[in-house]
Amino acid sequence: MILFKYPEKQRELARVHPRVRSLLDWVANYCWQNWQEDVIVTDIFRDDPTSTHYYGRAIDLALLSRASSEDLRTLINDLFPYGGKHETVPPLDHGTAPHIHLQVQGEPYHKEV
Ligand SMILES: [Zn+2]
Repeated sequence: MILFKYPEKQRELARVHPRVRSLLDWVANYCWQNWQEDVIVTDIFRDDPTSTHYYGRAIDLALLSRASSEDLRTLINDLFPYGGKHETVPPLDHGTAPHIHLQVQGEPYHKEV
């Protein structure tokens, strides 16, 4: 199941790039099937043009257990390569606190709903 740290993030999910939305659905399904864990969305759009969040191409998730999160990161990067020198899930320890950052390639996406 997909849960939200803040209710307004649920509305933002309707505006993200379809590829990152599909990836989130895959991750949520995988976490439930394998660990009976829900995923918690902590951030989607961010007002920083240097970030993939700005373009609707990234979603942050709260860490599962450290081991599960590292396994998930490896699996996603193997199955869904970002392309080029970046990763679909970069190292967990970045930003203000460890988290799972999912990102996809694509044109900027700001779907109006
Ligand atoms: Zn992020």
